[in-house]
Amino acid sequence: MERASVVVIGGGVLGTSVAYHLASMGQKDVLLLERQNLATASSSQAAGLMFQISSKPAVDQLSRRTFDVLSDLEEINDEALDFKSPGTVRIAEHADEQKKLNALYQRAICEGISAEQVDEKWHSERLPWLKTSRDTLAVHFADEGYIDPYCLTNAYAKAARHYGAKIKIGVSVLSIEMSNGTISGVETDKGYISCDSVVVAGGSWSNQLTVSLGVSLPMIPTRSHFWIAAPDNDFGTDQPMVVHADAGAYTRPEVGGLLLGVQEAQSRTFDYRQLPEDILAFAVTEEGGEWEALVEAESRVSAFFPGLENARFESYMAGLSAYTPDGHFILGSAGEISGLYVAAGCCGSGVMASGGIGEALAEVIVNGQSKYDLSAFDPHRFGAVDPTSKDFQDLCAKARARKAK
Ligand SMILES: Cc1cc2nc3c(=O)[nH]c(=O)nc-3n(C[C@H](O)[C@H](O)[C@H](O)COP(=O)(O)OP(=O)(O)OC[C@H]3O[C@@H](n4cnc5c(N)ncnc54)[C@H](O)[C@@H]3O)c2cc1C
Repeated sequence: MERASVVVIGGGVLGTSVAYHLASMGQKDVLLLERQNLATASSSQAAGLMFQISSKPAVDQLSRRTFDVLSDLEEINDEALDFKSPGTVRIAEHADEQKKLNALYQRAICEGISAEQVDEKWHSERLPWLKTSRDTLAVHFADEGYIDPYCLTNAYAKAARHYGAKIKIGVSVLSIEMSNGTISGVETDKGYISCDSVVVAGGSWSNQLTVSLGVSLPMIPTRSHFWIAAPDNDFGTDQPMVVHADAGAYTRPEVGGLLLGVQEAQSRTFDYRQLPEDILAFAVTEEGGEWEALVEAESRVSAFFPGLENARFESYMAGLSAYTPDGHFILGSAGEISGLYVAAGCCGSGVMASGGIGEALAEVIVNGQSKYDLSAFDPHRFGAVDPTSKDFQDLCAKARARKAK
């Protein structure tokens, strides 16, 4: 019978990061199982934005760690990751958003994060397409950037293998087995594997794995999407990323074009029981629906991007991110079952926080505790939840709508 010490389920950016960190901390016999290929689900669809600061300090501590992990991976794998760091300009127009942005700016200064207020001249030179007013508050966070999430996932996997972890693709976990309240193994479509611990990093499918153990994870698969406009001189050659709090939207450069992401007033959510194994076989957005969503956001977006109407949108990406009601991850030991751990509920920030998430969970598994304060991510913080109920889905959709705030 095959045996591992820790089985990690899911070959997205979170599962591979956990496997890498476990193996690099000396954990023996780490085995990652992925039923499709590495980075085939959310981790191939992300816009890849990486922030050092947000309205959630608990998330920031994990995201900041990822910036250092990128250098570690480049060194271990002897391969560049091509992280681009044009910085982010956060924009706020209305008084309540300006108050929040100002607080973020002050916190950045206290925490040693590069941040400076910039004026209209500064952003009109770099972002000629951006409309602001005389009263706009704009703050530039110089060290933030974006990365290709597919490459990052594969870099974690390569580094995990370097430290001795095994990665098997094309293996589907059918169930997690326990005996007397302790993890004993996993049943897969290729046979049984006995193990002491299981990490559930199955993205939007995670509840499919845990519910039969009596553990309902407080998260809902929620649509995230963005559009890419074709290259245009108006986008400038040196543009930073933009987060517009009033509009609930973000942009980043995309090879001469512009990637535009918009938070909807009411995001689409899905019942995890309906998700097929292959996300590409699932209509996150029905045909034609991509334009409806852009039309819904038109007045908000054209207020800061007057060229919206004439932009040539050439591609659209829609995928799933698992959201929790408070926008914090689900990270740590799950339920009363000894040896069961979860890294899920990524709330649209799984790429940027992947380094911290992987390290923190590996510390919990190897040392019994983490140097990070993980209390905000406690899998039990909402008590018993029904992730199929309409009310719970609405709470998670609202967390998505607040993302840029
Ligand atoms: C459009 C869009 C834009 C985004 N933009 C950003 C961004 O700018 N910045 C950011 O940080 N994040 C962003 N995200 C979020 C980011 O993509 C996710 O947080 C991250 O990819 C989650 O990684 P994961 O490993 O949890 O999940 P996934 O990548 O979905 O991986 C889960 C894996 O588990 C496997 N699996 C599930 N069940 C089983 C089973 N039973 N047996 C074997 N394997 C199984 C699946 O096949 C899958 O490969 C975005 C997401 C979307 C959709």
